[in-house]
Amino acid sequence: MDDELYYKFSRFCKLHYRKNVQRICIDGGFTCPNRDGRCGVGGCIFCGERGSGDYLDRRLSVREQVGRRLDGYCGRKRFIAYFQSFTSTYAPVGRLKELYDEALCSELIVALAVATRPDCIDEPIAELLESYKSRCDVWVELGLQTSDDRTARFVNRGCESAVFLRAAEILAAHGIPFVVHLMIGLPGEGMEQLAETVRFVNAVKPWGIKLHSVYVMGGTVLEALYREGKYSPPTLEEYVRGAAYVISHIPPETVIHRLTGDCPPDLLIAPDWSADKRRVLAELDAYMRENGLRQGSEYEA
Ligand code: SF4
Repeated sequence: MDDELYYKFSRFCKLHYRKNVQRICIDGGFTCPNRDGRCGVGGCIFCGERGSGDYLDRRLSVREQVGRRLDGYCGRKRFIAYFQSFTSTYAPVGRLKELYDEALCSELIVALAVATRPDCIDEPIAELLESYKSRCDVWVELGLQTSDDRTARFVNRGCESAVFLRAAEILAAHGIPFVVHLMIGLPGEGMEQLAETVRFVNAVKPWGIKLHSVYVMGGTVLEALYREGKYSPPTLEEYVRGAAYVISHIPPETVIHRLTGDCPPDLLIAPDWSADKRRVLAELDAYMRENGLRQGSEYEA
């Protein structure tokens, strides 16, 4: 890690691909079982209408979305086809194959990354994903947010944490690395729940982690709670303390894909500080240095 305090995704790309690598974020036209009634309706209370792909244009086909970024490109960069919106394994396997094949339309694409829910991973899907490993790198991003099932019920996550363990097991059996999404500042949570979540996640050894603070997005149930004074997002100091805790308690080899949120500016209700990614990362860096922390420094195998 040299003098970097944690193992950034950009560093992984530099070491692994020896090139500048960028994500092409894709909306595959999926919905979510937590919205269409299969396991819930309304979605998670923090989730916007576009299922975290708020700036993507779902009127375009997958091929068009990828093509727009690649047309005429002949530089040294390489790309990751990243299915970001909603639950990107929530379709029959045949349909998934069509969409993933469309995305992998160029040799410039060196990885397929798929964001989904743990309850939308099963054997046939894992087999399909595994089949792409001879073509490119493949990984799955699993939304967990917290291991505390009481919080999960409150935020209407729509599945128990044990389901995450099962998904992790299936993916591991197929040799598919996975990235876990966690949030700091969920309603009713503090350091105690965060510590338990880190223990829970460490037990299944994810390849990577994505972390951000809860932010209140316009049009969500969380916005209503916030406006009624029933929810307060974390302060920057609270987020920094929590993120430093997570980073210092995970293994040094875990790749950190993200440490800041990605709310479209026009939809961000609170907290204001979460829009200033540079400041968040600088404060985190300063806090970790002041406290002698680095990734894995407090990790116990
Ligand atoms: S599982 Fe993901 S896409 Fe579905 S409602 Fe929750 S955050 Fe949104």
